[in-house]
Amino acid sequence: MSFQMSAAAVVQQRQWLLLLSMKLSGGGLLQLQRRQIIIATQQQPIHRREKQMVDLEKIISLCKRRGFIFQGSDQYGGLQGTWDYGPLGVELKNNVKRAWWRRIVYERDDMEGLDCAIMMNRLVLKYSGHEETFSDPMVDCRKCKKRFRADQVDPNEKCAEGDKHDLTEPRPFNLMFKTTVGPVADDNNIAYLRPETAQGIFVNFKNVLDSTNRKLPFGIAQIGKSYRNEITPRNFIFRVREFEQMEIEFFVKPGTDEEWHKKWVEDRYNWYVSLGIKPENLRKYEQKKEELAHYAKATVDLLYRFFPEREDENKQFDEVEGIANRTDFDLQCHTKGGKLVLADGREIPNQHAVNKLTYFDHETNQHILPYVVEPSAGVDRATLAFLMDSYFEETVKDDQRIVLRLHPELAPIKVAVLPLKKNNEAIRNTAIQIKNTLMKKSGWRTVYDDTAGIGKLYRRQDEIGTPFCVTVDFDTLEDQSVTVRDRDTMSQERVKIDALQEYLAAKLGNC
Ligand code: ATP
Repeated sequence: MSFQMSAAAVVQQRQWLLLLSMKLSGGGLLQLQRRQIIIATQQQPIHRREKQMVDLEKIISLCKRRGFIFQGSDQYGGLQGTWDYGPLGVELKNNVKRAWWRRIVYERDDMEGLDCAIMMNRLVLKYSGHEETFSDPMVDCRKCKKRFRADQVDPNEKCAEGDKHDLTEPRPFNLMFKTTVGPVADDNNIAYLRPETAQGIFVNFKNVLDSTNRKLPFGIAQIGKSYRNEITPRNFIFRVREFEQMEIEFFVKPGTDEEWHKKWVEDRYNWYVSLGIKPENLRKYEQKKEELAHYAKATVDLLYRFFPEREDENKQFDEVEGIANRTDFDLQCHTKGGKLVLADGREIPNQHAVNKLTYFDHETNQHILPYVVEPSAGVDRATLAFLMDSYFEETVKDDQRIVLRLHPELAPIKVAVLPLKKNNEAIRNTAIQIKNTLMKKSGWRTVYDDTAGIGKLYRRQDEIGTPFCVTVDFDTLEDQSVTVRDRDTMSQERVKIDALQEYLAAKLGNC
């Protein structure tokens, strides 16, 4: 407990402060009222050296140790490209999704939500172009027989069989997982696990439009699982075969698309920063003409510094989200009588769609195909970015601590209530009662923990990013006050139990 004042010392200091303030003010009642919520603040002599020395290895180790993320199918040796979110991971990931949904669907007046089926009629992915073209270039090494994504292998890399790889010419490998639907497994019943959530939004455009009477511009948001049979899944949850996306299709009148694209780039960038990502770790990258998909007018990728250990600074950054101006390509593919235009210029007329996906513009009295701006983010990559950005190792006096300075909205646990002495029944019961009341009144994920000494319990909560610890001690039984410890500053304040929720709510904000 080298870093914290004992409970008795806090009380002593509190009494001294009270006496002093009463003396200075002539013992005025006003002073006492002001002290109703915070009755003592401990300015600690914290000697702290902190460094953000993070890399994927440290995050993987923390995630396993503390129960954020485990290898998928661990019990049977794993399944490559799959990860399971543990008790804290599921909370963190849910909070990322909730923060996104709140910002995108609740706080705007031009958005609707949607949740589509993962399996879709094969025709959706035929006319979207995925069946024909959703592939990555794949190469094989003739010597070691390993398979690589052509743009991710260095031909000069050392081969396990000696010297350099002997690579084949690249050939396309379709990334969609195929299955059959129903009891007969033949070619007529083929379906795919969706490789992105976007297509479900496009084919529901008319349903949403008709049922909500929306006017342009408006958008549809969806969060859900997507599946890609990545040739080389790697880098923890950065590139996996089963992942989640948070996608927006924002429909606008042609001619206003460029302005909306710019607005969305800013809005999405600001979302990450508002949740604690440091601007120096987040970049906007405008794709060059030759990098753009053939249908895209412009794309800006938001890149996060996922690989800080790489020497070349540009290589430290990779995509967490892409914001594309897709013109009317998608609605054109899926509308009745429309057509899919492929990159090589071939046109595939849509002979199956049953509805026109047009919008009647009352200003011009014309049916138009809206343009689409698509901000498409990965939940897993965003979660990884928030984990990495909040990770700090500190030396406090001569003690080491790891602290996740997660934004309170994202923190898996908001408050931990800890008894100073677990074998004192009155202290324990008071702590449990405080935990239950906080949980019930505020809805915050609040936990009670008495499985170690107070110093260790603080360290554990620091490491999983809990913003506040509430400690119940002997004095609590006398004065109905608790010590609230701040994760980031490690400062402590004495707070009356009946003012605790209000005190924490002011600090936790939008949780
Ligand atoms: P990459 O070039 O890294 O393969 P992409 O450009 O194909 O990604 P999009 O199709 O634009 O990715 O998907 C939108 C978002 O979905 C990405 O920005 C990323 O956050 C997430 N994502 C895509 N593929 C994966 C994957 N295999 N694992 C985890 N997240 C992914």
